[in-house]
Amino acid sequence: MNDPACAQCGTPIVDTATLRKRDGVVFCCANCIAAADGAGGSSLACAHCGTPIVDTSSEVEIDQQVFCCHNCAQVHAGMSLRRSGA
Ligand SMILES: [Zn+2]
Ligand SMILES: [Zn+2]
Ligand SMILES: [Zn+2]
Repeated sequence: MNDPACAQCGTPIVDTATLRKRDGVVFCCANCIAAADGAGGSSLACAHCGTPIVDTSSEVEIDQQVFCCHNCAQVHAGMSLRRSGA
């Protein structure tokens, strides 16, 4: 089985602690569900996927960059480590 990916931002879900499911659709965190519902206006946005961070319970901050959840943080860290091209 493939790793699930967020239906809103497409980030692979490697940390299921913040995983949310609604109507059989998987999201990386509550922020992406809110974004799918059209939420906006937050001053904070994920540095990886750009989702507005409205639920700070899953928020992660690394090197002064804010992510909506650990999934985006890990994918972002993995990309900068590997540099496997576009
Ligand atoms: Zn997401
Ligand atoms: Zn994100
Ligand atoms: Zn997320």
